[in-house]
Amino acid sequence: MYENGWDMETKELYREILNEHNLNPSHKKDLGDGALRLNGVNPSCGDDITLTLKIGDDKIITDGAFTGSGCAVSQASADMMLDLIIGKTTDEALRLGAIFIKMIQGEAAPADLEELDEAAALQDIARMPARVKCAVLGWRTMKEMLETSQINKRSASAHCGV
Ligand code: ZN
Repeated sequence: MYENGWDMETKELYREILNEHNLNPSHKKDLGDGALRLNGVNPSCGDDITLTLKIGDDKIITDGAFTGSGCAVSQASADMMLDLIIGKTTDEALRLGAIFIKMIQGEAAPADLEELDEAAALQDIARMPARVKCAVLGWRTMKEMLETSQINKRSASAHCGV
């Protein structure tokens, strides 16, 4: 489909999605206390975000938000990610994160892109190496946060002898 270069309409649509998430992010706020919180920085561009997630007992991400500043790609990508992972389990969020990274590396299949919903609008970034770190910042921060919290939970239960 993209063998002969980008379909201009698709490219325009992707640009609109990115602009919309950048200018009117749905999840740019602070969740306050009781949320997991992690700062993620991309020094090569100056992107600096703090991601907050609330996780229920059943490992469902009940709410999520981000604060901070950075370029349009980093901000829009974090917002799209939150659209996608709120309401899902942490395992599902990590799985989607892996698919997103795959897409940014230019290795995603069409079925993968469907799962990413609007975040698929960032697939063009695979052709712009300088923006890769911007696009993955939110996702990388989410992955680190969830993996760390899982490790903490495991060591806590090990401590209790379970
Ligand atoms: Zn950036």
